[in-house]
Amino acid sequence: MEAYLAELNDAQRAPVLQKDGAMIVIAGAGSGKTRVLTYRIAYLMSQGVDPFNILSLTFTNKAAREMKTRIAKIVGNSEAKNLWMGTFHSIFAKILRFEADKLGYPSNFTIYDTQDSQSVIRAIIKDMRLDKDVYKYKQVYSRISSYKNSLITVKAYFQNPELKEADAMSKKPRLGEIYQEYVERCFKAGAMDFDDLLLKTNELLNRFPEVLQKYQNRFRYILVDEYQDTNHSQYLIVKALSDKFQNICVVGDDAQSIYAFRGANINNILNFQKDYENVQMYRLEQNYRSTKNIVNAANSIIEKNKTKLEKVVWTANDEGPKIVVNRLLTDGEEGRFVAGSIFENRMQNQMSNGDFAILYRTNAQSRAMEDALRKKEIPYRIYGGLSFYQRKEIKDVLSYLRLLINPKDEEALKRVINYPARGIGQTTMDKLSIAGNQYGKTIFEIIENIDHLDLKINKSTRTKLDNFVNMIKSFTILAENADAFTVADTVTKKTGLVQELKKDGTPEGIARIENIEELLNGIKDFVEGQKELADADGSLAEFLEDVALATDMDKDTGDDDRVALMTIHLAKGLEFPYVYIVGLEEDLFPSGMSMNTRSELEEERRLFYVALTRAEKQAYLTYTQSRYRWGKLVDAEPSRFIEEVDEQYVNYMIPQDDYKYKPLIDTDIFGDEVDKSKLRQTKPKKGTPPPAHKPSESQLRKLRKLKPASPEPEKASNSIKLEAGNVVEHMRFGKGKVLAIDGVGQDKKAEIDFENGGIKKLLLRFAKLKLI
Ligand code: ATP
Ligand code: MG
Repeated sequence: MEAYLAELNDAQRAPVLQKDGAMIVIAGAGSGKTRVLTYRIAYLMSQGVDPFNILSLTFTNKAAREMKTRIAKIVGNSEAKNLWMGTFHSIFAKILRFEADKLGYPSNFTIYDTQDSQSVIRAIIKDMRLDKDVYKYKQVYSRISSYKNSLITVKAYFQNPELKEADAMSKKPRLGEIYQEYVERCFKAGAMDFDDLLLKTNELLNRFPEVLQKYQNRFRYILVDEYQDTNHSQYLIVKALSDKFQNICVVGDDAQSIYAFRGANINNILNFQKDYENVQMYRLEQNYRSTKNIVNAANSIIEKNKTKLEKVVWTANDEGPKIVVNRLLTDGEEGRFVAGSIFENRMQNQMSNGDFAILYRTNAQSRAMEDALRKKEIPYRIYGGLSFYQRKEIKDVLSYLRLLINPKDEEALKRVINYPARGIGQTTMDKLSIAGNQYGKTIFEIIENIDHLDLKINKSTRTKLDNFVNMIKSFTILAENADAFTVADTVTKKTGLVQELKKDGTPEGIARIENIEELLNGIKDFVEGQKELADADGSLAEFLEDVALATDMDKDTGDDDRVALMTIHLAKGLEFPYVYIVGLEEDLFPSGMSMNTRSELEEERRLFYVALTRAEKQAYLTYTQSRYRWGKLVDAEPSRFIEEVDEQYVNYMIPQDDYKYKPLIDTDIFGDEVDKSKLRQTKPKKGTPPPAHKPSESQLRKLRKLKPASPEPEKASNSIKLEAGNVVEHMRFGKGKVLAIDGVGQDKKAEIDFENGGIKKLLLRFAKLKLI
């Protein structure tokens, strides 16, 4: 047996050694699924499979690189280099570039990031003169995104009256038109958004059988990690490509499906056996990552979910210390506890900063953690949030670069045409836009032909426009031969970007210049790296593609030693010796947005399972008694998840009574769970505030200190009279308009369109609403 196969247990080795056919590995966290994929690829190559014929799809590009490095150690670098490995988006962006002409796109198409897409949508809403408070651009964007991921094209949208009706119901009857206009504008700009990379791939494979065949023959062996989080669009691509040879291996864990809110479909994993012939199913049961305490605690949580595949997870690892639960007064105190604990653990156990992760439910929670880490001088890095490439000055440079590669790129053009200021004002831009719409041309094309058009733009402005276009064209010519670094360096100098920031002279301006320098260094590194590859030359186009699809996880070179801060969603697949899960409070985790249905609550629980199973040696759970949210100090209650952890694996730093989650009955809106006798007992009596919400004396003192007027106790909404048309306020969802009331007595519900939460149906006896 080859040496590397000995690094697998028997159960892991079985799927590695099954060379052909369809197979699925379902297993709990830390049981070696990713390792199986890695070793399977090495094994296939040792059996003579050409690396060009292997396609491996991962959740992050970083994961792909790590797998490649491991494989290179086994089979040698020159072979491993030729593997197709990466995220769905990065792999199919490459293929789309190659095949772009078939879909009417230029091969140098731009990839619009979320900011770009949202900016296009905002412009459309404005141009269509729609009410921007009704048509919120972010909501519209996510709606369009979900259509795309379900393969509902504009045409399909208009053929399905139900969709139109649904949008009309949520007061957005013109959503379809926005969708159509958005698609047209992107197409005109030679741009694809993230969802297009999947949608257009599907279109390509469906419409062109010869293309489908080509890639079916190319990718004879397909492997997919984190299969539980594939969406419909990704599912169909995998299905189409693997249809001919059916050599497909997917691995996943239904208990770690955490992207349903973005369209991931857990049924993809559940139905796999129906989709292929003779599917071999493998299970792995031994966890190699975590201590017994962590594995058992995680099992005790996930057990509470009703929808799940039965699995066994055990470990031969040490028992390890118990999971620590601590309650803090405020988020500031929580930060200090975490920072202090990291400091201590680092000293006592000789760990480095990189061995610690702080995980939270929402990005906003990072601030308190950052403050505390800074005070203790513990280096950290935040993942997610605003990535380096989205910072203003970086996006400005990138926009120039995008524009010189693809002059049709309207978002890039709008960003830089008058930055640094060149005297090209909004009025001119409006005229150019209108002309563009009239002639079906891009702004760049309009400027190129300005002398032949009858536009009311004066001579001096025309010269400015001319100069701009000529400058961009000179960059384009440069880029034909020069590498990405040379081009970027020239652009930052010739456009006056850096001079502009130097003029500024403020500390922010200086920090921005430093960022641009960092970008240039990064490009230099990239060029050096690319030049080593056989099929790349370090061109600007290659760099831009890399950037467009980079998450900041990918930029983590791991060479500096920092504590990692990130949302739990981002932590999937990763592992750290010490993990702090913070903000375990009702309404925050589980998120208040996700408690309307059982399936939403179960997804939150899976998220907690993912968080806990990242830990190798020790996990900490913390919650606060009060927390600032939306500018207000609110009472926090311990998350129900704390109590769900079997207590034999937990060490409470606080009296047990305090963390006990006291169910407010609103967790029981699922019907089958409602315990009627309990309901009667806890039903608030007239005049008495709901019991579980009474603030403690110390909290009250605090509240009084911070706010001259203590907040009005919230009333359960069945004590207020509501009717359709009323405007109400909810602590979590903000203001909302009551659309309808139905049901009677205990079952009375209100359908409310909230500013922050969209339409929700709330059971009135539990919902805490204020009439305004
Ligand atoms: P997740 O569900 O979190 O993605 P996973 O099932 O993909 O986890 P891996 O990341 O592949 O699990 O493995 C978890 C850890 O256990 C890794 O550090 C891996 O190197 C180690 N490991 C897996 N299998 C073995 C083994 N047979 N012997 C030693 N270590 C192993
Ligand atoms: Mg994994």
